[in-house]
Amino acid sequence: MNKKVECTVFLDLYELYLEDEVEDETKQWMMKHEETCRYCQNSGKDHEGNPALHEDREKIWGIRVLTMSLYSIFLLLTIWMSIWYLW
Ligand SMILES: [Zn+2]
Repeated sequence: MNKKVECTVFLDLYELYLEDEVEDETKQWMMKHEETCRYCQNSGKDHEGNPALHEDREKIWGIRVLTMSLYSIFLLLTIWMSIWYLW
């Protein structure tokens, strides 16, 4: 794993790590990573984790909601169109 991937995995698992819900092997890896990685030490201090990461998740969620509503509108329109056409 390269450094960036390690940090992503670390931050992903950090909440579980705090709650002691990761496997021993993972926990050991994370303890080691936290010791050696300045970036994750800083991100770990505020329990919010990495703010950029949260922003990304919100963006992804927004896109998902948007896609779903567009899809529903399209579906309704299609149904309406076929009813109108058959009438
Ligand atoms: Zn790191």
